[in-house]
This record gives sequence, C-alpha cells and structure tokens, in this order.
Amino acid sequence: MSTNQYDVIIVGAGFAGVTASRNLSQKGHKTLVLEGRDRMGGRTWYDERLGEHLEMGGTFIHWFQPNVWHETMRYNLEVVKLIDLHQAYWITDGQVKEGTQDDEFALMREGMKVLARDAEKYFPRPFEPFYNEAAVKEIDHLSVADRLREIESEVSKEVSDILTAYWCAYFCTDDLEEPALTQLYRWVAMSYNDWDVMEDIFELYKFKHGTKSLLESIFHDGNAELKLSTPVTTIEETEHGQKVTTKDGDEYTATAVIAAIPTNTINNIEFKPALADEIHQFSRENQSTTNGGKLWAKVRGPSITDTFRLTAPAYPVSSMHTQFFDQETNEGIIMAYVSNTNKLDVTNKAQVQELLRNWIPDIEVIDCTGHKWDEDEFSKGTWSVLRKNQLTKYGKAVRQPRNGFYLAGSDYANGWSGFIDGAIESGSSIGEFVDEYLKNGA
Ligand SMILES: Cc1cc2nc3c(=O)[nH]c(=O)nc-3n(C[C@H](O)[C@H](O)[C@H](O)COP(=O)(O)OP(=O)(O)OC[C@H]3O[C@@H](n4cnc5c(N)ncnc54)[C@H](O)[C@@H]3O)c2cc1C
Repeated sequence: MSTNQYDVIIVGAGFAGVTASRNLSQKGHKTLVLEGRDRMGGRTWYDERLGEHLEMGGTFIHWFQPNVWHETMRYNLEVVKLIDLHQAYWITDGQVKEGTQDDEFALMREGMKVLARDAEKYFPRPFEPFYNEAAVKEIDHLSVADRLREIESEVSKEVSDILTAYWCAYFCTDDLEEPALTQLYRWVAMSYNDWDVMEDIFELYKFKHGTKSLLESIFHDGNAELKLSTPVTTIEETEHGQKVTTKDGDEYTATAVIAAIPTNTINNIEFKPALADEIHQFSRENQSTTNGGKLWAKVRGPSITDTFRLTAPAYPVSSMHTQFFDQETNEGIIMAYVSNTNKLDVTNKAQVQELLRNWIPDIEVIDCTGHKWDEDEFSKGTWSVLRKNQLTKYGKAVRQPRNGFYLAGSDYANGWSGFIDGAIESGSSIGEFVDEYLKNGA
C-alpha cells in the first residue's frame, strides 16, 4: 500500500480529464491522473484493424465546435475530409430505394425543417441549456418518437422513415421512445438550426492521424503524472481533503478531485459520503445510448462500384457509410453506429452480412470488427443522449461541485454534450473552478 499527496487527482484520461490535467499542471498544481484502462482516450480510441487505422469511438470534429477546433489549431494538427459519398440506398415501407446521397439528403432536409422548427424557441442560447428552463421543463417529458408522431400528417412516410433512421443513428438507439426531444432540439440549435450544417459537423471532418494525435498533444503539453490500468473504487471526503482508493488498494490524497468519468459509470465508485441522491439516481437510470457500439466492415460485391450510404429506420444499425474505398479492387470499408448490440454482434461476419443484404443483396463481408461500448465497464454506453426528463431533473445536480469534488466530462457539458468538444469544454471549465478552489478554497 502506498500513500501520496497531490493538489488534484483526476479520475479518467478521456478528453475531459486530459484537458483538465494539462491546464491544472501548467498552473503549477501537482496533478495525478488515474485511468482504469490500459490506454488514454476513453470513448475515443484510434486503433489498427482491417489493415487501416480506424476510430473505434469518437471521430468527427468541426470548426463550429469551438473548444476542439481551438485545440486542433493550437497544436497545428491536420484535418481531413471524409471521402465523397455518391450512392445512397434507403429502406422505406420495407422497400429499398436507390439514388444519390443528394436525393436522400433532400428528403432528410425536408423532414428536419418540420421536425425541429421549434428548436430555437427552447434553446435560444444553446451553450446555456437552462436559459429558457421554464419552457424546456414543459417539453422534457417528450421523446423524439412523440415528436415524430406529432408531425405525422405533415410529412410523407418516406420522409418520416428517413428521419427515424437518422435520429436512431445520431442517438445510437433503435427505440426513439427513449431519447428526449430536448436533446434533438439542443443539437439542432447548436448547429444554427440548419440540418445541412449539423450533418457536416457530425460526419465530415476528422484528424488525419486520429483523435489520439490531439489527445497526446494536450496531455504532453502539461506535466501531470499518469497511472494507467488503475481503476478507482472509492472517493472519500476526509478532514484533510479527498482520499482516493484504487482497485489494488493503493491510496492517494489530494485537496481536490475531478471525476472525469461518464454518468453511467458514477455508481461503479463508492463515494463517502454519498453524492447528492439525484446524481446516483441519474447513474442508475443511465442514458438512452446504453445499447450502443461501433461497427467497421470490409465489403465487396458485384454491385459495389462506388462509395455509398445505407439507411433504414429502427434496424440494429440505422445508418452506415463508406470511409475507405479502393477503386482498383472495388473493396470498401464501411462504418456504422450500432444502436443495439443485443441484436447484432459486431464481430460476427455472417450476422453483419445478413444485415447489410437488406440493402445490397449481393454484398459480401470480407471481415468486420467493432467495439461494444455498452459492455465496456468504463463507459457503459456510447455518447451522452439524455432520456426524457433527465435534463431538467438531474442537469443542475451533476454540475454542482461539493467541497473540492467535481464531475467533468462531455456528459456534463453545457454546449456540445455528447461530443469531443463537450469533453474539452467541461475539462477546461472545471479545471478553472478547481484552480480557484486550490488558490482560495472557494
Ligand atoms: C462509437 C462512438 C462514436 C462517437 N463519435 C463521435 C464523433 O464522431 N464526434 C464527437 O465529437 N464525439 C463522438 N463520440 C463521443 C465522444 O467520443 C465522447 O463524448 C468523448 O470522447 C467523451 O470524453 P470524456 O472525457 O467526457 O469521457 P470518456 O472518454 O468516457 O473518458 C472517461 C475516462 O474515465 C475512465 N474511467 C471511468 N471510470 C473509471 C474509474 N472508476 N477509474 C479510473 N478511470 C475510470 C474511462 O476509462 C475513460 O478513459 C463518439 C463516441 C462513441 C463511443
């Protein structure tokens, strides 16, 4: 057993934890980062598979996301555009339709104008989710499915199916009864109420050398100490500050602790005394993206001669697109967010091929891979998408610090919650609070 004293201990080396560690260590605070996995990055993970460097988690960034873009420019990192997608296959009423991506986007654009026309009313200042709290409270009991039913008479079945497919993919679920409508409105409002802008933000630009390139730039710019493969099991408030105990029984103490971990994993740690009831309740309920994962598949087939996008409502995978394409062999690598890993094993070639044949009957899966983020004890889900009522019920409690203890992470961000940008926003702003606390005890 060892005992060590720090100014601040940060639990979790995802983007939030790493940003806070750089900022606080640069300000001269003795900083320790304890990470449960054997790598940094959390829900981002740049790995080598299928003969390529693939992102197993968070990927896309955009200049409309100010925090991540600022860091990208600061470290002069190269950003690349996704290859152009030409063909599109979408399933509506059980029928496969084929056209260009522009054809499909036109339908989605038409639908989004109706679906999200009130977003600005509820989130006039999207970086302040509680700015219009009274109005948000009135609709926080509604799901995305409720809103789709509300607009049923205003859009065609085809448009409704495309809206369902895209929002299942965006919200990593095959059941739109779960995610709150407020989440959809927040994302739309953050994108200037323009779906084309939103789609560019979500799926167009990525790091040439992976999310790892930014993560490592940020971390190595500070001088925090890092311990990998060190899951934290207990955080205790004592009269001398915070005591942190790891799975191996090692103890570390600090004046302040930041738990930069997903909301779904808060209850993996024992807090003494317990945190506010709402926080534990929130973690027990978990968010609506708890069945999710990511799928990568290397494919070929007689009719695959170009890049493509596949879309369908409420499949275990609702939207997929080509990310790599070899013109000589006509082999492509496609990527999808899996909305229900209970219904699709991302490592099972036969299952993945059967699924893809719903769109392209002669497609062959050469190999596939992925990660089941839902089964991962350190994430228990993919990205932050709140269930009905969670924003107004728990949103303020998780943002409330307690005597030198703080939660940080994309799940708690005010702006781009659910994105890398939100993790950096939160890590950076919580870092400022902690700096103030360490200097003035307030
Ligand atoms: C499949 C997928 C696709 C995504 N796509 C995008 C995208 O294209 N663009 C985008 O911007 N965002 C995307 N995201 C979301 C984005 O990756 C996350 O919102 C962001 O990375 C979260 O960062 P974080 O630091 O808040 O949390 P995390 O990255 O989850 O970091 C938390 C860290 O805490 C550690 N931890 C947890 N519990 C403990 C413990 N008890 N002890 C020690 N360590 C612990 C975890 O191991 C982890 O490293 C995606 C996410 C997934 C999963």
